[in-house]
Amino acid sequence: MAESAEEIYERALAAADADGRLPMPDVHEWETFPFEGDLRVRPLLPPVEAEPPRNGEDARECWRCTNGVRDAIWSDERWLLVPLPEPSGLPLVVILSTREHVDIGELSPQLASELGTLIVRIERAINRLEGIGRVHVCRWGDGSFHFHIWFMARPARLPQVRTNLAAIWDDILPATPADVWRANYTLAARALAESGGISHV
Ligand SMILES: [Zn+2]
Repeated sequence: MAESAEEIYERALAAADADGRLPMPDVHEWETFPFEGDLRVRPLLPPVEAEPPRNGEDARECWRCTNGVRDAIWSDERWLLVPLPEPSGLPLVVILSTREHVDIGELSPQLASELGTLIVRIERAINRLEGIGRVHVCRWGDGSFHFHIWFMARPARLPQVRTNLAAIWDDILPATPADVWRANYTLAARALAESGGISHV
């Protein structure tokens, strides 16, 4: 049986210092860790009563559902691919969403099997871009309810901009120039459409 939040919290407090701070993990020694200097862990806050609601849990208030195919660079009957609204630090970040208002655990067998294929197709399409070292495929799901999965293309040959911390470097690096960003998502969308669906760019 899993521990309750209270049990985890109590165990953490027992391991923390007088201020409730846990020791820094080894992550600050990673080559990819973006920060330096004297860092400390924030005191762990106690459990709350219930999980906060996510954005757009009600389909009538869901941004994706109320905006249709807006901003999509590629789509098919059941899926949409959308870039971040503004260029970010990595060469390209795109988000795959269902058209249907579902969470990951609610995907139908058809959507679930299509998702597996699409992850591979999108990874291949983005890898057509020159200079990409890896395409990270990420699903967190704590922000918005509507099912979405991130594809974060990191540049090759920048040894610090790697691992899960590439998602932090995405916020640190200066934004990719708009024309380069647009060219990147255009090439990726057209490459993806070669194996099905429609490129909108
Ligand atoms: Zn929705």
